[in-house]
Parts: sequence; structure tokens; C-alpha cells
Amino acid sequence: MNNITTADVQFNENGNPISEKYDDIYFSKEDGLTESYEVFQNGNNLVGRWQTNNHSHFTIAETGFGTGLNFLAVCQRFINFKQTHPSAQLKKLHFISFEKFPLEKSALQTALKAWPQLTYWSNQLLAQYPYLVSGPHRIHFDGNITLDLWLGDIAEQMPQMQNVSNGFIDAWFLDGFAPSKNPDMWQQSLFNNMAFYSKPNATFSTFTAAGFVRRGLIEAGFNVEKVKGFGYKRERIQGVLTDKKNTDSEKPKWNIYPIEMSPSKKVAIVGGGIAAVTTALALVQRDFQVELYCPTLETDGASGNQQGAIYPMLQNNHNAFSEVNLKAFQFSQQFYHYWQSKFDFDADFCGLIQLAFSDIVKERQNSLVEGELWPQSVFQALDATQCSEVAGVSIDTGGLYFPDAGWINPKAFVKAAKTYLAQCRNVSIISDAELVDIQKIESHWRLKFDCESAQFETITPSVVLALSHNSRDFSYTQHLSLSPVRGQITHINSHASLKNLNTVLCHKGYLTPETNNLHCIGATYKHGQTDSQPTSQDNLSNLALQKKHLPALSDELSEKNVSGERASIRSATPDHLPMCGLVNSPQYLKKSLRCKNRRYKDPLPEVDNIGLYVLTGLGSRGLTTAPLLADCLASVMAGEGLPLPSFAIEALHPNRFIFRGLKRGLEVNS
Ligand code: SAM
Repeated sequence: MNNITTADVQFNENGNPISEKYDDIYFSKEDGLTESYEVFQNGNNLVGRWQTNNHSHFTIAETGFGTGLNFLAVCQRFINFKQTHPSAQLKKLHFISFEKFPLEKSALQTALKAWPQLTYWSNQLLAQYPYLVSGPHRIHFDGNITLDLWLGDIAEQMPQMQNVSNGFIDAWFLDGFAPSKNPDMWQQSLFNNMAFYSKPNATFSTFTAAGFVRRGLIEAGFNVEKVKGFGYKRERIQGVLTDKKNTDSEKPKWNIYPIEMSPSKKVAIVGGGIAAVTTALALVQRDFQVELYCPTLETDGASGNQQGAIYPMLQNNHNAFSEVNLKAFQFSQQFYHYWQSKFDFDADFCGLIQLAFSDIVKERQNSLVEGELWPQSVFQALDATQCSEVAGVSIDTGGLYFPDAGWINPKAFVKAAKTYLAQCRNVSIISDAELVDIQKIESHWRLKFDCESAQFETITPSVVLALSHNSRDFSYTQHLSLSPVRGQITHINSHASLKNLNTVLCHKGYLTPETNNLHCIGATYKHGQTDSQPTSQDNLSNLALQKKHLPALSDELSEKNVSGERASIRSATPDHLPMCGLVNSPQYLKKSLRCKNRRYKDPLPEVDNIGLYVLTGLGSRGLTTAPLLADCLASVMAGEGLPLPSFAIEALHPNRFIFRGLKRGLEVNS
């Protein structure tokens, strides 16, 4: 069962939302918006602090997202601030909110009608309102505002939030129903966690003045003052974290999966495909100065194809694999929509059907449906007749229909993204540059490139390798478990019944709807092969696969209708999850592990290879996963909160295979 229960919300005669379960109001009956300004914004002195903030971003965390009123009001305030203070150093607002009982979208819509002055923001929230699945959901808003909405009980979700060095939250909106009505939330562990994730001198503000809340916050290290309450409330409290305790001071700092920010805002990205350009876009949005080194003029790898499917691979288990796939799929929809408003590339979120093409797949799909772990808005089970109706072509098996899925033209996307990047003030693109060597020189990285038979070098504090399986071609990365997989796609002329195809169809291969009079079918999957020369044999095996699973289209899917093909090399990892993060040496990991096993008696090792990151191992799913993972990597590098829970960050960490190897007794030179 999906572990998220939606809010039991009623609207009173004035249209104010009320929680039946908690027998409490979502915000002041008198004036929720003014309460939000006075209690949460002024209580944290937001505008005053924004003026003197000497960082590029400011992070607010909230307990209880509810109707999103506090968030939307702060969006409005932030935009006003940016307009009146155009030269302020602060560029981005990051808002992190936790919600155990999210409102259904229809209830949210009703609640937000009360605030016509916030329509610009509420429309964006409603358009991107996430699947109601536990864990974080990242949504970008206009004006450099990012919302990470963590669904689930804050007591379970907050510890899954990765901390950044000495904390990263600047201000807390301590909301939630009245402590007397919701004592489970207002626990000492919440106050301690607030302090743990806070920067020194972070502030908090709340509507309540309950004694145990005040005492709990003081115990956690906050200096608390009582001030006049809002409306009929006599008092409320606000304060500053003056005694940031090193809450984990008892624990030594051995760390197998370090999350280290970039030592500076200058970065070299090496790669020419989807991983490289999404990383560049994410870092440029964070004001990084980016040098993008593309190995060839043409778009590399599978990113050079004309069409590629976007959909989530889910299991009947909310594990790291499902978490990454679902959250990345959701993020990719808003990502491609957003960039379509900036530059031109074909994409169509026309839906996708995963056919139940074998008994094993049928069983797997049944367990997904019966497990009810994933909301119906993600996928629905259809029988063969329904599949045929939705797809517009005759299909003789049932399957799972993903209404939000679809396809994009990766070649056009990558090309347009590079043109866009080339026009950005902070970006240089160096084409036809093949990375041949990486050396660490004190705290910097020296990269050597071959370029039209000449060599050149660059020195950079940070580097992201987005070179598919070639990311492991260097002494600092050779321990990464990456392998090449050759995949060939075939183009078929659109004609007869094929012209009616409305959705992407996936079975053991896939077939896309028509674009430019062509369909794309694919793809072969040959492990260990690096030859990108297409073969007619691979075309035949692509066609055979389609005919086997879509017999009604056999005539259309014949060899004479083949109009082209393309083979490319992807990179795969043993556990089919990508690799995203800092690349430490095996020696560092060995020392960390030894330190852990010997109960921290050894000296703690310094995190090594700071500034060396990879985004790779995307397999055949890069169009779906790259946007969120690039955003995640950019958040790591910028020292922001992350859009994935710790268990997923660890499952994606480049260190994971060597760590597992060491545990099995793998030998590593000290
Ligand atoms: N800030 C909200 C707004 O702007 O509309 C109002 C918040 S409402 C007073 C309190 C919210 O806290 C509710 O939506 C409730 O479901 C949520 N909540 C209560 N207990 C929680 C918990 N343990 N973890 C996360 N959210 C919780």
C-alpha cells in the first residue's frame, strides 16, 4: 500500500480549510495571509536578512506544507524583494517543506482559490503538484525558486535529508497543527533535528507559545523569545540558533558516501550527451562558471537518437531503484516542458503502454497493480481492448498505461541546449576536445585534452565526468564499475496502421509514434560491445522483436520499410542504477571502513578527490533520469539540500561498488 494518506480536509462556511482528523484550522480564521507574513516571514526577519545575505541562495524549511499558503506567500515576497533589490547577492530561494497528509489536488485547488493575489504561484504549484508518494519531490518555480516537498511523517522523512557540512537551513517556519492537537509532531527529536540541519544563527518562528515547545527549542540550542501572538493569540515564540551543538560530535566523521560541495563555482564538465548538458544547465542556473568540453562535434551516444522514451521503471517495493525512477520521471516532465519554453526540440508526453508480453512480465505487472504502492495517476492496468483503443493500433495483450510518459527527440534537445548554453554569460563550450589525462595538482585538477592532433590543458577546481563508460578511462576513476552496452535503433517509414499509433509501446523493445514521418524501434542491447557501426542484422532483430510482440503490425514492420538506423554505446552499472556524485579513491574507502570496523580507533581519513564528480551509468534510461540526477549533482556541488533521500543518494554513489567489494574482502593497496 502507498504509505501516504491524503488530508481529511473540510471547508467551513467562509471557505477556510479545516482538518477533521486534527480538529484544527490550517491557518488563522481571521486572515491566513497576513498571519503568514507576520508570523513566519517577519518572525524570521526574512527581508532584512535577504538584504545582507552574502550567499547566492537562502533556504527555508517548514513543518507542515498544508495548502502551501506559507510557501506561495514567500514566493511573492521573494520576487518583490528581487525586483526592489536587483543587485542583492541573493539569487535563489530554496523552500523545503514536510507534509504527512498532503491535500488531494482538487482540495488544494479549492483552498487556493481564496488567494487570488497568489494565483501566479498557485497555478504553478497546481500544474506541477506531485504524485502523492513518500519522500522528496523537487519542483522548480519561476524566479529561481525551488520547492522540495517531502511527503510522509516528518519524524521519518527529515532524517533522510542529507546534511551539508555544518547545516544548510537559514530559517524555519515551525508550523503544524496546535501542539495540544498534534503532540506526535512536536517532539524533542524534531527540535534537535532542526538544530542539526540549521546553519549557525539560523532562525525559527512559530504561531505557538506552548511551554514544552519553548523548552524543547532551548534544549536544542535555540535562543527563544516570546512576542505578541497573531490575532486572538496572546503570545507566540521565535528565536535564533545560538548554540549549534555538534549533535553528532560523539560519532567520528568516517563517511563511506561523502557529499562534498564544489570547492569553488568554477567547473569543467566533460561530455557531449544528455548527462553533460543537463549538468551544465543545472550548474548555470546556480551561477556556476561552466566550461563544457565535448569530445565530438556530433551528439554522442544514445543522446544522438531521434526519439527516446521517457517513463519510470517501477518495482513493487519502494526501494532506491523505484525512488530514483519515479522521482526522476516526474522531474523530467517539468524539466522538458520548461526547456521547451526556452528552445526548440520535439517532445510529446502522449502516454506509454508497457505490454504484458510474457508470463513473467504479466505476473510482475499484476503484483504492481495489486501492491497499490503507486498511485493510479502514475499507471493504470488496461486489457488488450483498452490498450488498442488508447494506442490507436491493434494490440493483443494487456499492459500498464503511463498517461504522463512519452518521448523526446534527444538529438534535437542536446543540440538546442548547447546552442542555448553557448549564449550564456558564464559558459564556454569547447568542441572536439577528447580528454586524455587527469592529474590532481594540490587542490586542483589538471585536465589534458587532444584537439585536432594538438594537445591543451586546463586547470580547474572541479570537474564532472559525463563520458558514459569512458568516464572510467583515467587513473582516478578506473575502479568505477561501468561497462559499455551497444544499442542499435532502426527507423521505419510511417504508413498504414502505424500512422494511427498514439502512444509509445514498450515490450522487450519499443516503438514510438510517428515524427517527421518516421517511427523509431529499438533497441538492441549488447553488453561489452563498443562498436558503433550499425548492422543490418541488428535491424532484423529489432524488426523481429516488434513483430513477435505486435503481430497486427507485421506488414508495416517489414524490412522494406526500414529507412535508417543508428548504433551507439551506453554505459551500464551492475545494479542498473546510475552513478552520480563524488569519486573517492579505493584507499579512502578502505581507511573509512577500517575506521568503522575498528570502532573508530584509527585516525579518521580526510575525504579525498574533492572536486571530482561523475554522472554516468545511465544505461538506456538517461532521458528519464539525467534531468533529476544532474539537478541533484548540482545541488551537491552548490551545498544545497538534495532532491533525493539519503538511501537513494547512497544507492547512486560512485563509491558503492568498491565499498561492497571491500566488504567482500577485495584487496586495495594502501
Ligand atoms: N503551512 C501550511 C499552509 O501554509 O497551509 C499550514 C500547515 S497546517 C496548520 C499543519 C500541517 O502539518 C498539516 O497539513 C498537517 O497534515 C501537517 N502535519 C501534521 N503532523 C505532521 C507530521 N508529523 N509530519 C509532517 N506533516 C505533519
